[in-house]
Amino acid sequence: MCYRCGKCCSWFSVTVSEEDVNREPRLLDHVWAVAEVPPCKTKTYMVENGHPYVLKKSAPHSPCVFLSEGDPATCLIYETRPDVCRKSPTCTRRRTPEEENSNEMA
Ligand code: SF4
Ligand code: SF4
Repeated sequence: MCYRCGKCCSWFSVTVSEEDVNREPRLLDHVWAVAEVPPCKTKTYMVENGHPYVLKKSAPHSPCVFLSEGDPATCLIYETRPDVCRKSPTCTRRRTPEEENSNEMA
């Protein structure tokens, strides 16, 4: 369950597959090819073998470009977000009834 704090969308670098790009073409405007990722920009990957892209970051733990930071944080491409984001969250808190009826973060 998810608090929608947005920290995972800042802490991790998101790997992106061709399938993700086909579902959400706007991803291509914000990715590095994996082989070209500047080491100073990313530290922690949501590793998925065979994914050709990583979402760009201005610094290792800067927010994802698609994260609208607020309370709660919101993914601007929630319906078409990458698969690694769909596999989150790893947190365990139960959502409130209001959260159950809202646009979940992850
Ligand atoms: S999964 Fe939810 S609660 Fe956990 S870090 Fe991400 S946004 Fe926050
Ligand atoms: S695409 Fe959405 S869910 Fe994935 S890291 Fe970015 S803001 Fe978070």
